[in-house]
Amino acid sequence: MTTGKVRVRFAPSPTGPLHIGGVRTALYNYLFAKKHGGDFILRIEDTDQARFVEGAEDYIVESLNWCNIPFDEGPEKPGDAGPYRQSERKNLYREYADKLIASGNAYYAFDTSDELEHHRNDHESKGKTFIYNWHNRQKLKNSLSLSKTEIDQKIKAGEPYVIRFKSPEAETLHLKDEIRGEMTVESQVLDDKVLFKSDGMPTYHLANIVDDHLMKITHVIRGEEWLPSLALHVLLYRAFDWETPKFAHLPLILKPQGKGKLSKRDGDKMGFPVFPLEWKDQKTGETFSGYREEGYFPETIANMLALLGWNEGGGSEKENYSLAELVEAFSLEHVSKGGSKFDPEKTRWFQHHYMQEANEEKLAEDLDQILKQKDLSFSKSYLQKVIGLLKERASFVSDFWEMGSYFFKAPENYDEKAAKKAWKAETPGIIDDMIRILEGTEDFSTSNVQEKVKSWITSEGIGFGKVMQPFRLSLVGAMQGPDVFEIASTIGKEETISRLKNAQERLK
Ligand code: GLU
Repeated sequence: MTTGKVRVRFAPSPTGPLHIGGVRTALYNYLFAKKHGGDFILRIEDTDQARFVEGAEDYIVESLNWCNIPFDEGPEKPGDAGPYRQSERKNLYREYADKLIASGNAYYAFDTSDELEHHRNDHESKGKTFIYNWHNRQKLKNSLSLSKTEIDQKIKAGEPYVIRFKSPEAETLHLKDEIRGEMTVESQVLDDKVLFKSDGMPTYHLANIVDDHLMKITHVIRGEEWLPSLALHVLLYRAFDWETPKFAHLPLILKPQGKGKLSKRDGDKMGFPVFPLEWKDQKTGETFSGYREEGYFPETIANMLALLGWNEGGGSEKENYSLAELVEAFSLEHVSKGGSKFDPEKTRWFQHHYMQEANEEKLAEDLDQILKQKDLSFSKSYLQKVIGLLKERASFVSDFWEMGSYFFKAPENYDEKAAKKAWKAETPGIIDDMIRILEGTEDFSTSNVQEKVKSWITSEGIGFGKVMQPFRLSLVGAMQGPDVFEIASTIGKEETISRLKNAQERLK
């Protein structure tokens, strides 16, 4: 299947919110598809009804859309290979299980769960592990050990059964992974996995292979946790006599300390989200934080995830990639084999970068939303001006409020330490003079205000700090913020003078 159109799929099970590792799998699939002019498909693997979680599918779709990695075909976006939910395809799998039985690659197994439990315990008591495969399947209750009449009788009587794959007894399997290269697995260690369950539903293994085949998937790019299933999957392709897609198993995402897989509870424990969007667990009422709600931009998340296990290679030091650049640069050869440490600091660093790149009009709209909640309203151009002044130090839209609330309302308090330092006995007199200067200043542009104030300072021979510090304290309430003349010019003459008077009053 190396010729023809590249088709990849992201195949999550809707068992809860999509973990950030799942988003990375989706992203790599998307990048690979777009790089090769192919299709990116979303398939919902919901055959396990017991683990189905309401709202999880919507969450997955919303996450992909938010990250700007939309799929070309999927549940509400049908192409030629639908339906895209396995629950809607459930009538199609039995036929394939039957084909494997007919070709001698699978068999009926009637062992009850009690019997299997008994075998397991029995083995355990002897210090062994029970594996249902070639070495004992002739002794168990299945269509390999029973006679044709016995089998027919059981089936007619409606006795529950599963269909198991008949894995080869002694064969060295040569497997290939696009990231890990060649691997060998001895077939004798494989168990005869259940392909079809007694409830009439296929297992993951059967449904996954049948669907990948029917959906003409050329490359299976998925998490490392599926590597142990690779041998079975390759054997299934062989048993069906289907062309095998190429496989690539992505490395694990590790905890920031580097030990162990990043789990869904790690984030909130360590103070960063591990989910793209916030998720409220309907059953427990627990809320898991999400990058979107924490104010991160989708560009940040895509960039951060892309570099979590991939690099452009060739000694490139480049770290900031737009999605288009990622599509251009991405290749499976440069995905690393080893796990990648999750780095929340680095995520913040990317976020700061994308804040600098962000469209100021859009930022102004988002800031407007925050201000609205505080019953404050300003013109778009005013907000853009403030954003321009603060952006260099900001990472999140909320920072504009947190760092620059004085642009939107007069300070209510003055930093005590700063006031002690800046507000001296002579300050009220200086401020009175300054108010007079400003009242007489018609053109309140930054440069003009600066010019007026500075020439007065020089002509009077007052120390610079004696003016500037109380000036800043009056406007901001603390010794922080951008150039104080910029602040004065931005909030305007009236407001500047009013704040100076206010400070006179309050800092007496
Ligand atoms: N449904 C599997 C999962 O939830 C898909 C694994 C695969 O991509 O083959 O991860």
